Amino acid sequence: MTMRSDRSRGTSNPVPARSAHGGQAVVLGASIAGLTAATVLSCHYDHVVVLDRDQLPERPGNRRETPQDRHAHALLASGRDALEILFSGFTEELVAQGALCGDAAANGRYWQAGGWRRTEPAGVPLVSTTRTALEYAIRRRVVALRGVEIRQQTTVTGLCGTATGITGVRLAGGDVVDAALVVDATGRRHRSDQWLSELGCELPRTAGATVDLMYATQLLRRRRGDVSDGIVGQIIASTPSIGRGGLMMAVDGDRWLVTLAGYHGAHPPADQAGFEAFARTLPQPAIADLLGRAEPVTAIARIRYLASKRRYFEQLRRPPASYLAIGDALCSFNPIYGQGISVAALEANALGRLLDRHGAATGAMVRDWYATVAKAIVGPAWELAAGADWALPATTGDRPRGMALRTWYARQVLLATHVDSDINALLIRVHHLMAPPSTLLRPVLRVLRAARRARRAASAPSGHHDIRGRCKEDVGSG
Ligand SMILES: Cc1cc2nc3c(=O)[nH]c(=O)nc-3n(C[C@H](O)[C@H](O)[C@H](O)COP(=O)(O)OP(=O)(O)OC[C@H]3O[C@@H](n4cnc5c(N)ncnc54)[C@H](O)[C@@H]3O)c2cc1C
Repeated sequence: MTMRSDRSRGTSNPVPARSAHGGQAVVLGASIAGLTAATVLSCHYDHVVVLDRDQLPERPGNRRETPQDRHAHALLASGRDALEILFSGFTEELVAQGALCGDAAANGRYWQAGGWRRTEPAGVPLVSTTRTALEYAIRRRVVALRGVEIRQQTTVTGLCGTATGITGVRLAGGDVVDAALVVDATGRRHRSDQWLSELGCELPRTAGATVDLMYATQLLRRRRGDVSDGIVGQIIASTPSIGRGGLMMAVDGDRWLVTLAGYHGAHPPADQAGFEAFARTLPQPAIADLLGRAEPVTAIARIRYLASKRRYFEQLRRPPASYLAIGDALCSFNPIYGQGISVAALEANALGRLLDRHGAATGAMVRDWYATVAKAIVGPAWELAAGADWALPATTGDRPRGMALRTWYARQVLLATHVDSDINALLIRVHHLMAPPSTLLRPVLRVLRAARRARRAASAPSGHHDIRGRCKEDVGSG
């Protein structure tokens, strides 16, 4: 089944026209990384073929090969900006589909490290919508691109070429699709290590952290007036001592999306009573209260995420020319930090810039791609996520050096966000990948002073942090 480009749908690609280098590029995977990559490739290749083994819905809807699409998906401000570059007017389109917008600090509330973070505006945009609406909006734009063809229900079974250069892909059934460039966006369950080793390619080193995270999610009806206070989302973050958390977000279709999550065996159940009981174990009652009053519109869906995984292609001496891994196939982040979509969109923009510079996917371009992405996009996001994953005592895997100090400082920053709105805004910018994590080191004295103030406020008799007698431990142990 083929979806051909069709400009008559009224959506056009606003990426500045560039000269095409000709030939055919093939993208493996029509999820967010594949679709955003195809968008930039359409400016460089005469023909872009996107192959996906799934059936892609004609409207926003769940699909089999992306089971995560039933669960909460944050769109970071950096990702939103990257998508706006690719698809001008994208945010407006999401809003027209029912997304809610606001400021990440003023319209989102975060309970972290035993207290509420400040709520003064941070100047960082928040867009709250479902993953299915987001993917649909992207797919709609890509389907409308001239020269892009999406072939669904088409399974890739291997790569063609040699250890030094990839020339195409093999499909189930034996057909071969030739390509001047293959972009592998087959996600975190990719098979490309096997595909590359079949051609004798050197495989990248991998590293990761086993967190054994379970998500359980339900959509509920949102009544008029439910967000009259302007709060479109609340996060009750997990802490090292609790190892579980949850969030509620107002999303398209006048619905609330509630996701509960637990690490290392503290898994939220899939039955209604167990789900609600789990919500009641969180240190703040907002989510449990919502579950108690709102009408469910879906069953509870669960997904288990065992481990984050990064592939270090940038360390290979000679990665094969004409092949790039992108999105989750390059690095799968612990989903709790909401980074995957935004990283994929940032990577797509970087791919466009590098093809501009190099002209074609030569060996030099491929090396440049992996080095650039590792330094500017994946590296900083990985550092943030790993920092929090390793704060959990039961996490296993490739523990980076210096984690004890980093975990301690990250905790001081979180405490500081309870009392200092500038530090809160800075942390939001870092979490949204708008500033590198190292930015948080600059105001070190201010952070430490503010953290001390927060601890004092929490231990005062009327301290607002000491809710249900459970959180002093999280505030006080810094
Ligand atoms: C529970 C959970 C929650 C998440 N929450 C967030 C969040 O809050 N914010 C965020 O930004 N990110 C989040 N993520 C990550 C996010 O879903 C991904 O980063 C995003 O989908 C981009 O992934 P991708 O396109 O690289 O791969 P995927 O979305 O996994 O898509 C891979 C595609 O490749 C296709 N494919 C695979 N193998 C083949 C083959 N052999 N032949 C043909 N097609 C194939 C599949 O059908 C699929 O369409 C979450 C992930 C999980 C698991």
